[in-house]
Amino acid sequence: MEAGKKMAMAGAYAMMATFAFAFEIDLRTARIEAMPSCTTNESQKQAVRELEKHLSMIAQKRKPAKAPSGVVFVVGKVAPGCKEASAHEAHAQAVGGKIYFWGDDSRSRFYQRWGTLYGVYGFLEKVLGVKWVWAGDKGIVLTPRNTVEVPDGWSYRFYPPLEVSNIAEYTARPYSLLRPRLVEYTPVALRVSDDRARTFGHEWSQWMRRLRHQTRTHVTSGHAFTDWNRRFAETRPELLALDEKGRRGYPGEHEKDSDRARWIKLCVSNPAVVDQIITDWCAGGTNRYLNICPNDAYGFCRCENCRAWDADKPGEDFNAHKTDRYVRFWNRVAEKACAIRPDVTIVTYLYSSYRFPPRRERLQRPENFLFSTVPESRDDSEQLLGAWRKLGMKRYFVRPNYLCYCAAPVRGMERFFYEDFKRNLAGGMMGVSEDNTPRPQEQFEFYTFGRLIAEPDLSFETIEAEFLSQYGSAAPEMKEYFTRVRLRAEAGRLKAKEAKPYKQSVDTKILDDSQYYGAAYSAHTDADYAGDLDVVGRALAHADLSEMERWRVNRVRAMIENARLTRKFIYARDSMKTREFAEVGRELILKRIELKDAIDDKCWGSTFRGYPSEIRWWMWIKDKYLKEFWEPSAPAK
Ligand SMILES: [Zn+2]
Repeated sequence: MEAGKKMAMAGAYAMMATFAFAFEIDLRTARIEAMPSCTTNESQKQAVRELEKHLSMIAQKRKPAKAPSGVVFVVGKVAPGCKEASAHEAHAQAVGGKIYFWGDDSRSRFYQRWGTLYGVYGFLEKVLGVKWVWAGDKGIVLTPRNTVEVPDGWSYRFYPPLEVSNIAEYTARPYSLLRPRLVEYTPVALRVSDDRARTFGHEWSQWMRRLRHQTRTHVTSGHAFTDWNRRFAETRPELLALDEKGRRGYPGEHEKDSDRARWIKLCVSNPAVVDQIITDWCAGGTNRYLNICPNDAYGFCRCENCRAWDADKPGEDFNAHKTDRYVRFWNRVAEKACAIRPDVTIVTYLYSSYRFPPRRERLQRPENFLFSTVPESRDDSEQLLGAWRKLGMKRYFVRPNYLCYCAAPVRGMERFFYEDFKRNLAGGMMGVSEDNTPRPQEQFEFYTFGRLIAEPDLSFETIEAEFLSQYGSAAPEMKEYFTRVRLRAEAGRLKAKEAKPYKQSVDTKILDDSQYYGAAYSAHTDADYAGDLDVVGRALAHADLSEMERWRVNRVRAMIENARLTRKFIYARDSMKTREFAEVGRELILKRIELKDAIDDKCWGSTFRGYPSEIRWWMWIKDKYLKEFWEPSAPAK
């Protein structure tokens, strides 16, 4: 509840003084005056560039006045009578016929703040109605106009409402889209070029800024022991987990960056592990944050002592519930660390099969812990985190893999994610950090999270209306389409939740919502897709769509066609001979090549290769029947 109160003081405010008179700005001629600092200050530099770019898109044949008297926008200067920005703030203010933009633009080795730039975005959004529904120019939604009236005294202030505000950008960065194992598994005609990947990476980061994401508290977190195999497999294997075959560690594997080496678990019941963690922490200068987030996947230690720390139910799967051993381990780390630095914050995940509340153990120093919680989309996250709060959990941010989704259908989980975010907000989360695969199938979901992070008080209906405005006069039909998808997706989620609670996450290696693909395919029938195409066909029948609006509707149409054929492909394997099945695969690849520009997905690599989305289908047929698509000079048809 307290978080709700705090929220009222943060977020974005656009205010108009009641006594104000309005002044008119001619956007065709309005001049931008950039303070000298705009040439060196990155935030101010981008503020000038973005303001000019958007004004040129909004006003016809914009040609700014040359004379200094034509100045209307002042970038990088505090408005007369106003105060300097304090930390993290962004400001825009109309005074005496001019609009001033300023903010906290400081930077360090660890962060860049964007106060002035965010002030500009606030003006573009609140006064000129600009929306950013996707990365790059195709995601800019605006209404052309030549003039606008602004009340004197109009002001905008932004302060990041969450301490942690993050939709991870690394997945959009070139090295991630261009990872060889993904590229090599993608048919040549669908591979993303270096240039396009690089441009997309920049556009993605820029989109996050346009949405005004800014983390206030930089927490050290993430898999903390990925180098322990290299460090200890040969010299001190007793620190590492005992596997099913009686081995501890994999000497020499680190160089190959094998999953086993990266995902190595520790023998958490061994006191020497705690000592080594403390030694490392002291050597690094006893940071305020002591990150002990376990490595990814399973591979938990099977030694007798670690097993004795588990609190299994009789007959339970070895991987099903690992919380108790970890809570006991975390308590040990906390005890030793607190003796050295009482205000230490120990950061760890509630993830995988240690996200469930402990059965026997209790957190002994809850105030010294900060949890990075990773609910799965079939979880009831409120029930899960509520139980942890009852056990003393004080501080947490939510770091789901919800947006790591590699399947073909448009997913339709935006309202569920909206409600999940709101529940966590009411529960006191300090923010969100979303891992993701940046694909157009999740656009509505990205936009929902993206807007909530900057303005948590928005209603779903507002976010929906903003999102649908990208389709111009076809918005009503597109609303009908997205509602159809959402209702089916929500029903599919409930069905998956009831049918196999948590089973998949125990069977497979990583708790990752890309495993949600099964529910995603079974939620939509061929007849559903046919109906969707009818709705989108009606949307395309609007004669007054702009070129961009038509492109956006058509993108959805192409995604439906791809999902429909992919569904056929996914289900065909179980009922066909391999050779016949390969022909469905051929049909699908050809269709994807045909729809490539319409869908404009940079992540085909994740679709083909991302485990477990489609790899288990292609591996049957790829090399034997469809080799030509993977040859350097693959035919387009
Ligand atoms: Zn052990």
